[in-house]
Amino acid sequence: MKSAPLATGWTTQRQITRRGVLWLGLTCDVRCKFCYDEKVSLNAKAWMPPVEARAAIDKFRYFYQNEFVDFMGGEPTLHPQALEIVRHAADIGLRPTMITHGMRLADMDHARAFADAGIHDFLVSIHGIGDTVREIHGRGRDNYAKQVAALDNLRELGIPFRFNVTMIKDNLTELEAIAELAGAKGARVVNFLTFNPYFEWTADPEISFQARHSDIAPHLARAIDRCTALGVEANVRYMPPCQLPGHEAHVYTGYQLPYDPHEWDYNSWYDAGHEGKPDPAWYLDASRRQQRRHNYVHVPACGGCALRQVCDGFHKQYVTRWGADEARPYDGPLIDDPTYFVRQQRKIRYPASDGRPGEADSQTLAATRLAVGEDGRAGVKRQRPRRS
Ligand code: SF4
Repeated sequence: MKSAPLATGWTTQRQITRRGVLWLGLTCDVRCKFCYDEKVSLNAKAWMPPVEARAAIDKFRYFYQNEFVDFMGGEPTLHPQALEIVRHAADIGLRPTMITHGMRLADMDHARAFADAGIHDFLVSIHGIGDTVREIHGRGRDNYAKQVAALDNLRELGIPFRFNVTMIKDNLTELEAIAELAGAKGARVVNFLTFNPYFEWTADPEISFQARHSDIAPHLARAIDRCTALGVEANVRYMPPCQLPGHEAHVYTGYQLPYDPHEWDYNSWYDAGHEGKPDPAWYLDASRRQQRRHNYVHVPACGGCALRQVCDGFHKQYVTRWGADEARPYDGPLIDDPTYFVRQQRKIRYPASDGRPGEADSQTLAATRLAVGEDGRAGVKRQRPRRS
C-alpha cells in the first residue's frame, strides 16, 4: 500500500517512542571500518525468511502497538524480499524505515519501487564527505557520488530521509559539512553517534579509529549549531551530557532514548513481553538494564553528579583505554527525570497512527518469540527462535 508521507511539525513534548527494530540479516556489500558485523561468521549472516519477518512485524504492530519499524542489516535493501517486507509493514500501519548506506537508491527505479511499496522514510548512513566515504566503506566505487544521487532521487520522489553519522577520527573535521549537506538536500534529522565498542568490538582495547569525547565535542557542537540554523533536528547518541555543555538538550544516553521517536522501543526491541504501552517507570528500569547490558559504568566523579540516575556514564572499554578525567559532574539536587535536558529540544513531531492497531489474536502474538540474541539484535539468525 502506498502511503503519502506524513505531514510533520515540531514539538517539545516528549513521548515514549513507538518504533520497533528488526534485523533482516547481516549481509552487506561494503565493509565499514567500525562495522559490528564484519567479525560475524558468514553462516550467521543469512537473510531472515519473509514469513518470520511478517510474524515479527505483526507482533510489533498488534502486540507491542508500535507505529514505526526500522529494518536493519547488514544492508537491508539487499534482502531479496525487501519490498515485500516493507509492503507488509506499511499495509498494517507500521510505518517502515530502512537503515541503509543508500547507494542502491541511486538507481531511480529502485528508489521508486520502495516508494510504491510504502516506505515511510530512509535513515541513510552518511559517514563523511567525498573520498572519506569510500575510505570508511572499504569497498565500492563512487560511493559518495552514489549517496548524493540517492538523496536527490529520494527528494524527487518525496520520500523523507534522515542521516546517521558514526563519529570516528576519520570524519571529525567533516561533521559541519555533513550538517550542511543535510540542510542542502532536505534531511529532516541528523543522528550523530559515538562509536560504541559493543558486540564483537568489546574485547579490543585499542580500536584505531575510536575518538575521545573531548576531541569530538568542538566539531560536534558546531555541527549541531549548523543543523539548528538549517532547520534540521540534531541528536547525539551515547555521549554523556557533561561532554557537550550548552548542547545537552540534544544528547541521548540509554536513559533518554525512549523519549526520541526515532529510537527503538526497549519493549519490542528485546521482545520483553509487556503487551501494549508500558509506563515511564518501566522504561526507566529498561534503561538501567540497557546500561548494564552494554557495559556502561559511572566513574568516580559521577558519584557527585546531579544527573547520575539518568545518565549511562562511560563505556567500560572507553574508561580502560582513556581513564575518567573527562567527566564533569553537575551540581545541584539529584535529577530523576530522564527528560530533564531533552525536553527542551525541538524535535520532529509525527501524528499518531489512525485508529486501533488491529484485531489480531494477542495470545498467538504473545506466543510468537523473536530470535533476540544475547546482544539484543532482534531477528538475527544466530540461534534458533525460542518456542513456547
Ligand atoms: S553522571 Fe558522570 S558521565 Fe553522566 S553527566 Fe554526570 S559526570 Fe558526566
